[in-house]
Order: sequence, then structure tokens, then C-alpha cells
Amino acid sequence: MGSRYGVKIRKLEDSVLKIKRAKHPCPKCGKVNVKRKAKGLWHCNSCNATFTGGTYAPVTQAGAATRKTVSGI
Ligand SMILES: [Zn+2]
Repeated sequence: MGSRYGVKIRKLEDSVLKIKRAKHPCPKCGKVNVKRKAKGLWHCNSCNATFTGGTYAPVTQAGAATRKTVSGI
């Protein structure tokens, strides 16, 4: 039982690492060249913009939902 739980956690960490290492689209210039600089800190290698975001991805799901709500008004 314990090992099953362990596999699940490992898979979760795996996907988080992939997201962390992957490049993300830049909210400023739109290029997919944003990399994680530190926890919650992101840097775009195209326009040199540094911005804060989610810990594991520049835009959190909650943030996207908020943006949608705001633009819809
Ligand atoms: Zn950029």
C-alpha cells in the first residue's frame, strides 16, 4: 500500500519537474522563452522581463481564471 502511494507521488513530482524545466510563453512579448529563475520568479530570455507567477508555472490556474473574469467585465 505504501509503495502505491509512493509511485503516485513520484509521478506528481515528475510532472512538476517537467513544468518547472519547460519553457513558458511570456506575457510581455508572447515568445515561449520564459524560464523559472527562482520560486515564483520567472525570466524571459527574449525580452529580459522578470516577473512573478506561480511556483511551478508562470501562470497559475487561479490566475488565469481571475484574468478571464476581469476581461469579461
Ligand atoms: Zn518576453
